[in-house]
Amino acid sequence: MLTIPPLITETERELLQNLIANAKRILICGHRGPDGDAVGSALLRWLPGIQDISFYMRHETEATQAIKNCDLVFCLDFNALHRLMEMGDAIAAHNAPRVIIDHHLNPDRNAAALTISHPQMCSTCEVVLRLLLQLGGYEDMATRAAAALYTGMMTDTGGFTYNSNSPEIYQLISLLLAKGIDKDKIYRNVFNTYSESRLRLTGYILYKKLDFYQDRRASIFTLTRSEMTRFNFIRGDAEGLVNMPLQVKGMRLSISLREDTERDVVRVSLRSVDDFPCNKMAEEFFNGGGHLNASGGELPFPLSEAVKTAERAIEAYAHLL
Ligand code: 5GP
Ligand code: MN
Repeated sequence: MLTIPPLITETERELLQNLIANAKRILICGHRGPDGDAVGSALLRWLPGIQDISFYMRHETEATQAIKNCDLVFCLDFNALHRLMEMGDAIAAHNAPRVIIDHHLNPDRNAAALTISHPQMCSTCEVVLRLLLQLGGYEDMATRAAAALYTGMMTDTGGFTYNSNSPEIYQLISLLLAKGIDKDKIYRNVFNTYSESRLRLTGYILYKKLDFYQDRRASIFTLTRSEMTRFNFIRGDAEGLVNMPLQVKGMRLSISLREDTERDVVRVSLRSVDDFPCNKMAEEFFNGGGHLNASGGELPFPLSEAVKTAERAIEAYAHLL
């Protein structure tokens, strides 16, 4: 029988508990364009609590006030303040201590009083759950909290299809199931709630936009603003599309290039299988980073130029494809 080992040292536990005990107003923040793991490690859209989230980009005054008023900041699912864009500057300028809880490589330890970083873990939600077990919070955990944590573990592993071989993950899941979550419904809520036009957008991209390269082990597709308009694109509709080319036998790398809807940049998403290092490619070619098999970045030039950069990246990494 496996047991879940403690996550942090006794010294770290004391530091964490002191930070919390001395704080009156705690701020919890996630990265821009939050995914299931960022939101799930705090709460989730179709769960009670979503109404309490303040989006810095949309409610800057309210969010700035919340930052000024807090005396402890939890940074969930990101490894450095610059990942928060403008909100990162506001938090850096505020003198409240920070705790980073994350699973991305190379955390900026100087940015926090305590950094709980575990890149080998599937999700920040897994880190949070292990922390909660160690601190003795399991007995009191509500079903909705269990559902939020399950969601982040599920979304960051593509429904436990990658980055999910650790036996302990399934022990943790069994602890969440014991809290009465409906994991099948969570799956449907996350993956099967798209619009008809999103499904047709998928068909359009796969039929018309997807190009294969390097003896078909890599692919690129692009998505323009006008195509988004044509398919009634709403935020999140591009989520997961980049995984689809990897369904082709032998595929190692998938690159998606999408015009940002707000800024004049191209958002880049990279997905790979096995040992192909998306994060290295993202750092080297796309001003970004991320995980071995899932990374992202952005390019400050038009889509046609971005395609050329992506083609050069594939060429440069041909030996690893
Ligand atoms: P996605 O393709 O879903 O936008 O991003 C996948 C992963 O890549 C994210 O979980 C994050 O770790 C990383 N990532 C995405 N965009 C950026 C970026 O602009 N900079 C860095 N450093 N990492 C990114
Ligand atoms: Mn994550």
